Amino acid sequence: MQRQALQWRRQGVRVGFVPTMGYLHAGHLSLVAEARRRVGPEGMVVLSIYVNPTQFAPTEDLARYPRDFARDSRLCREAGVDVIFAPNDADMYAGREQGLYSTYVVEETLTQGLEGASRPTHFRGVTTVVTKLFNCVLPEVSVFGAKDWQQAAVVRRMVADLQFPIRIVVAPTTREPDGLAMSSRNRYLQPAERAQATVLWRSQAWVRKQVRGSGSGSTAGLRPEALRQGIQALIAECPAARLDYVEFVDPDTLRPVDRVRRGCRMVMAVFVGKTRLIDNGAI
Ligand code: AMP
Repeated sequence: MQRQALQWRRQGVRVGFVPTMGYLHAGHLSLVAEARRRVGPEGMVVLSIYVNPTQFAPTEDLARYPRDFARDSRLCREAGVDVIFAPNDADMYAGREQGLYSTYVVEETLTQGLEGASRPTHFRGVTTVVTKLFNCVLPEVSVFGAKDWQQAAVVRRMVADLQFPIRIVVAPTTREPDGLAMSSRNRYLQPAERAQATVLWRSQAWVRKQVRGSGSGSTAGLRPEALRQGIQALIAECPAARLDYVEFVDPDTLRPVDRVRRGCRMVMAVFVGKTRLIDNGAI
């Protein structure tokens, strides 16, 4: 991959990059379309498929994460991806099994809350693998999804802090018709759970209505605790659902806000059955 990328660079070919863990859906393909817009018809769009072991905790779903390379490559062909980069663990983490692999990239601030609080080693894996993928693909632009808002913020911070010569683009979340954010993990949901999984979207819509509907919502703002209670009530109506966290944060610094008003970001994680779903949206 790197040899090819260096050749493209010598030829002046523009490269756009979409990192994924595969099991592709329309959300991933919207990132491909955005990468294509950025590099133009003559550019190269690279999509990586790699289920990165270092971003999963031992208790998480690494082994059963859905994989279907044949289907993914068909979707990539239809979407106009030029190259699929699908490395394996031996390529990416040579020597890790023997304890020889010992270099990681760590962002120290934005990773502390939200997903980082629930999944303490997750972002170290993400920043490390994204750095490694960038070094292989050498893109000029890389597209990430707003679905993983904190991840996008962390990657942006890392790219700024470490002078990566790469433009990071964040593309909007693609949703099912009933509002559920598309995710490879949605396939874990049993039918009854799938119906209840809309509670993440309904919670966001409810908060937006509270904030935008009330005069004070748009000016003085509303108390996060009051909104959290309303969300708990919505989730209580779904027997399979359990709130992991919901926070109202500044969209860039990810710091919790004192008052929830228009422009702040609502970020949440909910277990539906055994499946942990995340979502976020502008308020
Ligand atoms: P994943 O394969 O889950 O690691 O996701 C790869 C990329 O696709 C990340 O940048 C995600 O934020 C993005 N992504 C995942 N789901 C969606 C979605 N529903 N809409 C837009 N982007 C998404």
